[in-house]
Amino acid sequence: MRLVDTHCHLNLIEERNEIIKKFDNENMEFVIEVGIDIDNSFNTVELANTYEKIYASVGIHPNDSSNLSNKDFDTIKILASNEKVIAIGEIGLDYYREYTTKKDQYKSFINQLEIAKEIGLPVILHIREAYEDAFNLLVENGIPDKLGVVHCFSSDWKTARKFLDLGFYIGIDGPITFKNNHKLVEVVKNTPIEMILPETDSPFLTPVPYRGKRNNPLYVKYVIEKIAEIKEISIDETSEILLNNAKKAFSIK
Ligand SMILES: [Zn+2]
Repeated sequence: MRLVDTHCHLNLIEERNEIIKKFDNENMEFVIEVGIDIDNSFNTVELANTYEKIYASVGIHPNDSSNLSNKDFDTIKILASNEKVIAIGEIGLDYYREYTTKKDQYKSFINQLEIAKEIGLPVILHIREAYEDAFNLLVENGIPDKLGVVHCFSSDWKTARKFLDLGFYIGIDGPITFKNNHKLVEVVKNTPIEMILPETDSPFLTPVPYRGKRNNPLYVKYVIEKIAEIKEISIDETSEILLNNAKKAFSIK
């Protein structure tokens, strides 16, 4: 099976060099390193420019959306022009943690949506306990032509279908391997496999059988295996379809 991880944070993993060294032997085709703030987005681009198999997404996470100025959005725009940058994100709304006000989150989300539209890149959406507002905000402000992914999807099938109808991919992470996650299993069951992207969000959300330990992109294997099991398709075929989806979603050759 060939691996692809469309959402990781290697910059937050101390032993990243040892993990990256294993990419070739473990059939990792490529990973997408996702930015969460300005400094981290700089690091993300640097990492992508150092390693062939790493692509970058640049953006400011909703939890980091307070005290932003136009200069910050300009910086994201400049970083986005780097040729290894294939998406804007992670951007969106997060009502789970109240680090920032809704007003600040809207402003940051809308500004970065505009950048994605202007430059012609897809978006990586972080939405937590804010699916309805995020959906409405997208529809009202205009959806980027290149669409994108609802990263680490955590709502129900009814909500997934709304985003699928807009054309967005559904990102599936480690929680799909957790016991009794019936709601997410139903989402995977009903979502056409061509619209699913495998993610780790590493170092967070470690899948079974390593739950409780630190996550890394190679563990995307367990997410892919679980998707194959739910879809009743062989692991090899599933991994090929998911790899194709990732290339298509982010225009990677
Ligand atoms: Zn993330």
